[in-house]
Amino acid sequence: MNKVLKEKRERINMNQVKFENSDKGLCVICDEPISIGKMTCSKNCHEGFIKFCETQFGIAKKVVDTTTGIAYKVPTRAIIENGLSWKDLASFPQWKDE
Ligand SMILES: [Zn+2]
Repeated sequence: MNKVLKEKRERINMNQVKFENSDKGLCVICDEPISIGKMTCSKNCHEGFIKFCETQFGIAKKVVDTTTGIAYKVPTRAIIENGLSWKDLASFPQWKDE
């Protein structure tokens, strides 16, 4: 499968996990009611959610800047907490294939 496509698909999967519960207004970790636009009810649940995603998707994701072809190693946590915008990519270390 095309690499970029595969990464796009993984990102969509991540978003689905993320929004499944919060769409219903429930904490993604403990099912407590939360306010709209939030994922988790507390700092503890937020950390639990990040741990969950790191287990599901890895500690860091390979994200390619399609304008330069350079791949960056972006922490899963940063994607969850800040989203991912193209202008931030260059602040992450470059990806090295092991
Ligand atoms: Zn919670």
